[in-house]
Amino acid sequence: MTLNRQAIRQQFDREMTKARERITTTPNGEIGWLVQFIQLDLDALTPSEWMVLAYEVASFTEVDFSQKHVFPVVSSCGWSVQALPGETQQYTLPSRKEAAHLQGTIRGYLEALWTNAVAPITFSDLTVIVTLPGAFHDRYGSVLVATKPKTKEFEYRVAVLLAHHAGRIRPCQECQRIFLAARRDQLFCDPRCQMRVASRKWRKGSKKTSRKEHH
Ligand SMILES: [Zn+2]
Repeated sequence: MTLNRQAIRQQFDREMTKARERITTTPNGEIGWLVQFIQLDLDALTPSEWMVLAYEVASFTEVDFSQKHVFPVVSSCGWSVQALPGETQQYTLPSRKEAAHLQGTIRGYLEALWTNAVAPITFSDLTVIVTLPGAFHDRYGSVLVATKPKTKEFEYRVAVLLAHHAGRIRPCQECQRIFLAARRDQLFCDPRCQMRVASRKWRKGSKKTSRKEHH
């Protein structure tokens, strides 16, 4: 029984490490992964495809002390699916419902950002934790943030990421797919969308010209 739980823990940790690797090796890293995630059709995923994604969502939310200028999040709650029965904080994974909720919420924040140039994200349960030196830094104390439920932890991580990349995330003017612009003036997600618009303009233009010729 104890051995079995130990094995489940080890397996879970391995899956989390692999998920973290998949996120960091996605083109554009974390933000690239996030842009993909919010546009996935969760209902179309097979159970095993969903498990792969569930670990990614869980791993994305994990505390990341590598980011500077940001209060790291300390985990104070778990996802709703328990990998180990009875463990409610660690060894938990999101349900599809939680993931779908996040997709909708984050797209809402993006819409707000595009429409109003600001995206207010409200936290009804937010704790700021101050630590003595030694916990994370030899000389200075640290400030950490804890929030509930787990989806709000995810949103906090998203807020920080968005702040760094807000200027690059935009909807394609042709197909509405959300993409990361490589250049400031990039309006279309890929050359195909750009070509489609260009050829439509050209056809319109040539029609006008031919009409003029008739007169
Ligand atoms: Zn497009």
